[in-house]
Parts: sequence; C-alpha cells; structure tokens
Amino acid sequence: MIELRLPGSISSSLSNLKKRNPVTQTNFSSLPLSADFLNNLKSLDYLVMTPIQEKSLPLMLQGKDVQAQAKTGSGKTAAFGIAILNNLQIKNYVTQALVLCPTRELADQVSKEIRRLARAIPNTKIVTLCGGTAIGPQFASLDQHHPYIVVGTPGRVLKHCQKGSLKLNRVKTLVLDEGDRMLDMGFHEDMMMIIDHTPQQRQTLLFSATLPDEIKHISQLIQKDPLDIQVESLHDNKKIKQTFYEIQKGERLQSLIGVLQHYNPESSVVFCNRKQQCHELADQLRQQGFHALALHGDLEQFDRDQVLVRFSNKSSSILIATDVAARGLDIKDLTAVINYELSPDPEVHIHRIGRTGRAGKEGLAISLFAPSEVRKINAIEEFTGSSVTIKNSSELKPKENFSLKPPMVTLNINAGKKSKLRAGDILGALTKNTDLTGKQIGKIDIFDNISYVAVEQPVARQALKILSEENIKGRRFKVRKL
Ligand code: ADP
Ligand code: MG
Repeated sequence: MIELRLPGSISSSLSNLKKRNPVTQTNFSSLPLSADFLNNLKSLDYLVMTPIQEKSLPLMLQGKDVQAQAKTGSGKTAAFGIAILNNLQIKNYVTQALVLCPTRELADQVSKEIRRLARAIPNTKIVTLCGGTAIGPQFASLDQHHPYIVVGTPGRVLKHCQKGSLKLNRVKTLVLDEGDRMLDMGFHEDMMMIIDHTPQQRQTLLFSATLPDEIKHISQLIQKDPLDIQVESLHDNKKIKQTFYEIQKGERLQSLIGVLQHYNPESSVVFCNRKQQCHELADQLRQQGFHALALHGDLEQFDRDQVLVRFSNKSSSILIATDVAARGLDIKDLTAVINYELSPDPEVHIHRIGRTGRAGKEGLAISLFAPSEVRKINAIEEFTGSSVTIKNSSELKPKENFSLKPPMVTLNINAGKKSKLRAGDILGALTKNTDLTGKQIGKIDIFDNISYVAVEQPVARQALKILSEENIKGRRFKVRKL
C-alpha cells in the first residue's frame, strides 16, 4: 500500500471546516411567525434554521431586498418561500408573488416546497407555469382564478404576461432562483421583460450559486439596497469521507471501473468537466455492462426527466454529469460522488462532494487525479484549510458481492396524468390478483403523457407481462422495459 501525503498533511479529510462554517442552532420560533405557521414547520421537521435561512429570514421578513449566494441543498427555497407566504394577503385575490426558475424540474420542486410550507394558510393557490407542456390548459386555469403565487420558467411566464393571461402588476415579492443558471440558459432578456410587468414597489430576492459580474449588474438594476448574504460555500464535511486515487496516464477509465467495483455504491454521480466527456464515459461504461446515464445541459426536458427518473428509482446506478447539469438536483440517498476529472476550481469540488452525505448520512467522495494534477489538490487543501489522504489505485479490489445490476428495472407506460392515470392504478394493476407484492414495486413517476414504475429486477419480466396483458383502469396501454 502506497500512502502518499502531500506537504502539510496531518489528518484525513476536511475536518477543520467546522471552524469556518459554524453550526447554527437558531430555531424558527425566534422569527415573527404565527403559531400555526410554526407548527406546520415543526410537522415538516424544520426546527432549526439552516445558515442561509438564519441570515436571510429576519431581513426578508422586514421586507428588505436580499441578494444571497449559497450552495445547493442549503434551504434557499424554504427561505424565500417563508418570506413570500409572510407577505401574502389572502383577502386580496391577485397574484402577489412570482418565482422564476431556470428549469421545469426546479420550478416543480419549488412549487412543491412552497405548498408544503403553505399548509398552514388555507386556500393558497399556487400555479406552476413552465414550457414543454401545452399552454391551453394554463390559460384556462389562469382564467378561472388568479393564483396568489406563480412559479415558472421565464419563457412561459413571459408568454402569459404578453397574452394578458397573467397579471403581475400587484406582485409584492419577486424571486429569481438560481439566477446564474438562468443567465447561462439565455434567459436574461426574458427575465428583464417579465420584471417590467411587475410594480416598482416590490421586494426582490435574488438567489444564485455563484455571483458573476452579470448577476451583480442585474442586482443593481432590479434591487433596492439589497443586503448581500453569502453563506460559506463549504460544507460541514465531517460526514463525507474523501479519498483521492492517483492514476497513471491512460488508466482513468480502468481506475473508475476499479472504484465502482471496489466500493460498489448503490447510486453515484460521476462528475466530468465537459459534456462531451459525459457522453463518451457513459458509452464506455455501458460497454462494460454498467448501467450508466449521462446528464448534461443539452438534453431535452423529456430526456432529462427520464434520466432522473431512472436514477432516482434505482434502476440506473450511475449518473454522469457536468457541474452545470447537476446543479439544483436534490437527490436523496446518494451513496457516492466520484470525480472522474477534478475540477480546476476548489470551490466547485466542494460543491460536488457536498451532494453525498446529506441529511446525516455518511457519504463517500472519491476523486481520480493524475500526477500532473497535484496542484489542484493543493488548491483544495488550501481552500478548505485541511489535508486530504491519497491512495494508489492498485489498492482497488472488487468487492465480493459486486454486481453490475442495479436493484430495480424501469417500465414505462405510454399514458400519464392526461389519461387520469394515478400511482395507485399502476400499483393496483401490478399487485391485485397477482403474485407480486407492494414491496417489489418501487417509485412510480407520473408525467403528463408518460408514467414510469420501478420494479425489482427479478420480477421485471413478470411485471411487464402483467402490465402489457392486463387492463389498467379498464384500458390497455403500451408498456415497455427501459
Ligand atoms: P436549495 O434550494 O438551497 O438547493 P432546498 O431549498 O431545495 O435547497 O433544500 C434542500 C433540502 O433541505 C430540502 O429537502 C428541504 O426540505 C430541506 N430543508 C430546508 N430547510 C430545512 C430546515 N430548516 N430544516 C430541515 N430541513 C430543511
Ligand atoms: Mg433551490
């Protein structure tokens, strides 16, 4: 065993981080919120504020503009969600809050979170307006009654403003979530045109993972004396075990396979620096029998949804992603983050590995590096103020129970919400009058025109047969195995 230590190394992973990122313990009850609202937070297990919430909420509740930078998973949604709900006047049947998000998936996540937070406030109508779905039903829904809160992507929201189906002239709270990513996606102009439809007198909250000059400039244009909040983008890494493997030239792919066989993680995100590399690597791993999918910025929404469904329902164990594509993912139970290529930016490295070991679970962070990349590791050590441990890839030995197969298989059904299909219908068709039990059925995801159900690998054939031959809700749909 060769254990290389870099100059200045003393102990293993990032333990000094706590000094820079002190654990906060402020309860939500210190905020001027109603008892009902606090009780609801309690029922969500939200007791202690996350650092970004602790810093931003007191100011936002006073109506101040805020420009905040914080990493993914830091609780930004609840922060602005609470501010929005606090500003809401239920007797006023107009749209009072608008949240703009870069993707439909994020908009859905944000809507869901605000709905949960709003449970303490009766009749809070929240509407999600995104592209990629038919606009007709959205017109009809907006025509019936005005939502208090609109969450959407810039393109579609702008369309509704222009058509007059959405009126923003009474908006009190405007939120730009993941501002930097909206710019990356070319939404600058749409965003500014939407903002023109909102009143001058409003609260504007701008959230972004990074603060490029363009974001600072937009902030100057649309915010009034914004309070700048930055939460250390470092994680409290005591729950993340970091290991670096030194590899030789031409050994990168083989070493990654070694890592996968050695640790056999149930689900892992593998980071590459470029999307071309993501493609290639996914192909190469598939040729070796692994179930790997690539996630990158060029995917159509449909394909992106499908990749995420297959990864989160455990029918694909490896997600290969670029940093941009992975932003905003809230995937629970991620066993490992693997850096196929080290990021040149130590802060990005910390963002990446922060995706494992969430919510009290120990996570695994593995990085491959060539001898010529030692400088990057030094930068990571310098950035975090602590040392890393390095191992040699020759130490990687396949685990005894190593298996290429993920635990689940995805079946897709060519019908969804529009056909009034529900998760219970699919579960019923699979388990009623059959040998299958509910335990063998995994996650069920229903989209407008397509549904996905995960079933345990050994019963996949049987499940496919049942769904293809039996009726679901008295109708027969096309079903196939992905
Ligand atoms: P961000 O938008 O910063 O990436 P999210 O708002 O999606 O992060 O929050 C990440 C996760 O943390 C979510 O699952 C959310 O339910 C949870 N969460 C947020 N605030 C709290 C809190 N105060 N206590 C416990 N969990 C929280
Ligand atoms: Mg978010």
